[in-house]
Amino acid sequence: MRIDVVTIFPEYLAPLDLSLIGKAREDGLLTVTAHDLRDFTHDRHRTVDDTPYGGGAGMVMKPQPWAEALDHVVAQGDGSGGRRPRLVVPGPGGAPFTQSLARELAEEPWLAFACGRYEGIDERVYEYARDDLGLEVSVVSLGDYVLNGGEVAVLAMVEAIARLLPGVIGNAESLVEESHEDGLLEYPIYTKPKVWNGRSVPDVLLSGNHSAIAAWRHEQRLARTASRRPDLLHPAQVTTDGDLEVDL
Ligand code: SAM
Repeated sequence: MRIDVVTIFPEYLAPLDLSLIGKAREDGLLTVTAHDLRDFTHDRHRTVDDTPYGGGAGMVMKPQPWAEALDHVVAQGDGSGGRRPRLVVPGPGGAPFTQSLARELAEEPWLAFACGRYEGIDERVYEYARDDLGLEVSVVSLGDYVLNGGEVAVLAMVEAIARLLPGVIGNAESLVEESHEDGLLEYPIYTKPKVWNGRSVPDVLLSGNHSAIAAWRHEQRLARTASRRPDLLHPAQVTTDGDLEVDL
């Protein structure tokens, strides 16, 4: 997969050199290129923002540097017959970033991320990307809160997407049982020693009885999801009097 990120803080992306994502880049499973938006300005101060039309607080990112930066990214091509990137714009007003969206984006050969700052990017940049460059544009939110810029969102999204690429996680099976893969949270997990600080590992996990372990884990996943994230449960999993229907 190829990833391009346009930002005024390319150095914010340094963590993508580390750990499994850094290794995936070294192994050629993923390329990540950061582009400095200020390289596409033409004034002495490398200005990327201006005051909002209609008044109001804060500054808005100017359209021209964004258009030139996106032109530059698209013009590089991905070496596969003129394919274009899918443009992901992080924003608190976007569609929620979920595991299923991470899976969808992990299928794309090429993603470009546009990191807003200040009050965000002039609306006409989205239209330009769609209409003039022919890009699919997805505005995506990390959650219902406001960050200072899109870079932290890009770090989170790239990590969630890249770990789904074949070869990035050594044991692909570990992806299957994780929280959010099938709508439930993960069961509680334990490692050695059996007793730590007066607290024991649940007996069933030491029983060697695989079907009992699977049943216990399923029950725990339902109970944990009901207590921490009831919004994730399908109505069919909850009985009419509000109890959990534990289907073992
Ligand atoms: N004025 C914008 C609004 O009210 O929707 C918020 C702008 S925010 C201060 C600056 C930038 O941070 C955004 O353009 C976006 O790139 C990023 N950002 C902030 N919150 C985010 C979130 N929850 N998810 C993804 N990106 C976010």
